[in-house]
Amino acid sequence: MIIKDEYDVVVVGAGPAGSSTALAIARSGLDVLIVDRNQELGCPKRCGEGFGDYALNQIGLKRNEKWVDQYINGALLYAPNGKKIVMDYGKDVGYIIDRKKFDKWLALEACKAGAQIQTKTIVDGIIKESDFVKGIHAKFLSEHFDIRAKVVVAADGAESTIAKKAGMKIPSSPNFFDSGFQYEMAGIDLEDKKKLEFYFGQKIAPGGYIWIFPKGEDRANVGIGISAENSRTAKAYLDKFIKTNRKFEKGSIIEVNGGAIPLGGVMHDMVMNGLLVVGDAAHQINPLHGGGLAESIIAGKIAGTVISDAIAKNDVSRRGLSNYNRIWWKERGNKLKNLEKAKTLFEKLSDRQLNTLANELDKKKIEEITSGNLSKLMKLISKLAIVGIKEKLGF
Ligand SMILES: Cc1cc2nc3c(=O)[nH]c(=O)nc-3n(C[C@H](O)[C@H](O)[C@H](O)COP(=O)(O)OP(=O)(O)OC[C@H]3O[C@@H](n4cnc5c(N)ncnc54)[C@H](O)[C@@H]3O)c2cc1C
Repeated sequence: MIIKDEYDVVVVGAGPAGSSTALAIARSGLDVLIVDRNQELGCPKRCGEGFGDYALNQIGLKRNEKWVDQYINGALLYAPNGKKIVMDYGKDVGYIIDRKKFDKWLALEACKAGAQIQTKTIVDGIIKESDFVKGIHAKFLSEHFDIRAKVVVAADGAESTIAKKAGMKIPSSPNFFDSGFQYEMAGIDLEDKKKLEFYFGQKIAPGGYIWIFPKGEDRANVGIGISAENSRTAKAYLDKFIKTNRKFEKGSIIEVNGGAIPLGGVMHDMVMNGLLVVGDAAHQINPLHGGGLAESIIAGKIAGTVISDAIAKNDVSRRGLSNYNRIWWKERGNKLKNLEKAKTLFEKLSDRQLNTLANELDKKKIEEITSGNLSKLMKLISKLAIVGIKEKLGF
């Protein structure tokens, strides 16, 4: 092993949140180590891989063609009754990435700025002294060791254990998690390789949706996200959808992945003495569509900047790190909280209400709702309530 036994900062997790945090810290000239339990960065992927330029611009990086699989210019939304809403922007507005390449690239950008990385290293404990986190216990292959740090960053994803091990209270209710399951498929008949496809309905994906994210001519991520509290598994719903849809008749499953998606429960307090939590581990994810890449990267930048300031001021106490709570809530938290309310309303809609919603929605209204402006949605809810009452009365 070539790593040292002491750093200014140790980041646990080399996903987008961890790499973005380490990038900001390394740019400020501090000594930062990222450790990840995986033997290869970015593998296995657990993601539909939908992304855009916005977050990268925020951290001063540019899109790189080597990890873009497919440019996207819109979306096709399907209501339970099959009604299709076409959203066409007439220009590319996002893309589907290759996360295995993207995660490596982002981590290497942090390295170029001065960070160090160690893979195949699982963090299995926290060093805590006088109520201050002082480092980590870790294992590289069969070798156990400790690393001391002024600040430890828990960027260890949706099934995070690090912040909890340090004694932080993190949201654990199943209400705050969706189950995600996905196949990467080849040989499928895509309707339009430049459009994302979304399928809604309580019979199709209760409280969530099925997605098809094109990755080329006949290849796509085909996945589902539903509430973790369903009696049937996400896989069962996805398999049924695939079996009953002709576009998959000649398809092959070339990769299987899935995992928890923390769609809710955004944390008010994400710091303690010597520790800070970021990304999926802090439930920093768009609750309406489940996108967490951009949120993780932006939160990482905020976290890294606050940590660098706190170390410069020689105050890594919870007070010294609490600017992270304040800045993140102002820039992202309030918007995500609003979207969490929209998600709660959306997941309760019956198929009949969803069909009514599909009739009422146009491209502009959908854009406003997904960007956190809920006034249009609130007006629609009153119409949907009438549909709900009619349903209850049986007509
Ligand atoms: C099925 C599915 C589809 C999705 N689709 C999209 C999408 O299309 N677009 C989008 O924006 N978002 C999507 N997301 C969400 C997105 O994948 C996450 O929001 C994003 O990966 C969060 O980044 P992160 O760095 O916080 O966590 P992660 O990317 O999960 O990284 C955490 C890292 O920590 C490491 N780690 C964990 N524990 C330890 C430990 N004890 N010691 C050392 N290392 C550890 C892990 O190995 C991992 O590399 C999807 C999620 C799922 C499950």
